[in-house]
Amino acid sequence: MEKSYLGFAARRRIAVAIAAAIVAACCALSMSACRVARADDGLAEYNGEIEHIFTHELVFDTAKAFAPTNKLRDCFDKDHLTAKEFGGLLDELYNNGYVLISLDRATDGATLRLPVGKKPLVMSLDDMTYDTVDRGCIDRIVYVDGKLCDFTEHAQDQITRERENITLLESFIERHPDFSFDGGRATVCVNGYNGILGYRVTPDCRVSDARMKEDTEHCKELVAVMKRLGYTFASHTYYHSYFDGTSAARLEKDCAQWKKYIEPIVGNTRVLCYPAGRHNAKSAKNGIFKRYGFDVFLCVGNSCTEYERSHKDEKYIYRKPFDGTALRLYGEQYAQFADTRAIYDNTRFRPFSYKGGYH
Ligand SMILES: [Zn+2]
Repeated sequence: MEKSYLGFAARRRIAVAIAAAIVAACCALSMSACRVARADDGLAEYNGEIEHIFTHELVFDTAKAFAPTNKLRDCFDKDHLTAKEFGGLLDELYNNGYVLISLDRATDGATLRLPVGKKPLVMSLDDMTYDTVDRGCIDRIVYVDGKLCDFTEHAQDQITRERENITLLESFIERHPDFSFDGGRATVCVNGYNGILGYRVTPDCRVSDARMKEDTEHCKELVAVMKRLGYTFASHTYYHSYFDGTSAARLEKDCAQWKKYIEPIVGNTRVLCYPAGRHNAKSAKNGIFKRYGFDVFLCVGNSCTEYERSHKDEKYIYRKPFDGTALRLYGEQYAQFADTRAIYDNTRFRPFSYKGGYH
């Protein structure tokens, strides 16, 4: 049989056709790979633990807050971070791969997709009442020239963006927009007995009617700005009374006061943050909160009970405190978030090595 034979030109045509086919196939492959990558937006499904940390108002003037004459200095030392520490914490969280997600996103039950390699973090800020005057904390949060700022009459610079958790967070996100995933911000857990965010918006604040009216207007504007930025609000109860020592009647009154005075300002919320984390989900008293529409409960620690796990229509979320106590005692447990020694503010009156007096 005659051997089949192709001339040079024919072989070249075939070679070109094969090469073109290979190129086309590769292009198709790489295009589909691109399509997958684009469709994913570089996100990967996250199925691990969602950490939740919280802190209180910050101490910005440690000389005043920790002065021997300041009767609150123990409380400031144990339960608060300084502005320097919070700034350091944000740096460490960012460097350790955390991104801020909203509490709503953490609890909506939908599949969480995050930038590859990132870990989710929810943050809440408790109290934020500004009860004290000239003791080292700011007076209130304000909105100036399109920015959230901290204000105090008791410092040379009355308005800055570096003395409070909210303002430090906003400044940080401006420098590192990817720290806030999908616009995630903190949940602010406020009371009512002395108003919120430094605004005296309830009769318990004991200010004139005119001041209360003016503060309420300003506070509503501020809350609207914060919500637009992604902040959400939770009830930390109106009176900040500890659950175990509060009668059912008092709890009922608490919820009614919240509904009457604070809900019109921060809006409806299903999130209840137990003062000092003290709670008993099984208690009949907790039914009062549920009746008022709360079904997401913020606790402290990490010991979710069987009862809490089994009540699927309620969520009990355990949070880790960041304060002076935690920085000194929980270095190991918190290593995933931050080097607590490195961020510890040495202008505190107690050294980092101080471990006593807590338990
Ligand atoms: Zn509190």
